[in-house]
Amino acid sequence: MKLICIGRNYTDHIEELENEKPTDPVIFLKPDTSILLKKQPFFIPDFSNDIHHEVEVLVKIKKLGKYIDKKFAHKYYDEIGLGIDFTARDLQSQLKAKGLPWEKSKAFDGAAVIGQWLSKDKFPDVNDINFRLEKNEEIVQEGNTKLMLWKIDELIAYVSQFFTLKIGDIIFTGTPAGVGSVKTNDQLSGFIEDEKMFSVKVK
Ligand code: ZN
Repeated sequence: MKLICIGRNYTDHIEELENEKPTDPVIFLKPDTSILLKKQPFFIPDFSNDIHHEVEVLVKIKKLGKYIDKKFAHKYYDEIGLGIDFTARDLQSQLKAKGLPWEKSKAFDGAAVIGQWLSKDKFPDVNDINFRLEKNEEIVQEGNTKLMLWKIDELIAYVSQFFTLKIGDIIFTGTPAGVGSVKTNDQLSGFIEDEKMFSVKVK
């Protein structure tokens, strides 16, 4: 399975990183080895002094598809989740400055937190889901899926033009404003509405 991540999908986060507003979604992949095992802490890797949390809504693909039409995209997923796209921001900035791929800063072991899953039927509208990240019980990131530049169904349609989507693939739909560093002993907890989706200790 693969993790397909969307970059720059919320205007406020684009402004935060001083990126240009893209004309198409930014896509990158993480391998399955980047998934942080359940109940395990996140260990800050030796190669970075500036690991950032990016909380993101996740979509789990349940059906094989390619060139999926936006109007049928809803048939390709049943479950919504929440996770963290951990990013070695210092390394990413160096790589970006050199025009090199981001993988080392985004796809390393443990860089993908995947919380529990909720049935999409639970939500009256998947384009109106509130979510947040708390660091040591203080809210650091808050978002709503209605603020996405490309909504879930548009992302599925777009991504599937390049990559065949397979059962179990997960889309990380991008992060809202408020990304920031983590340090040893931080506790990160993610919520969709008022449901706790994950809790991760930083070591
Ligand atoms: Zn991200």
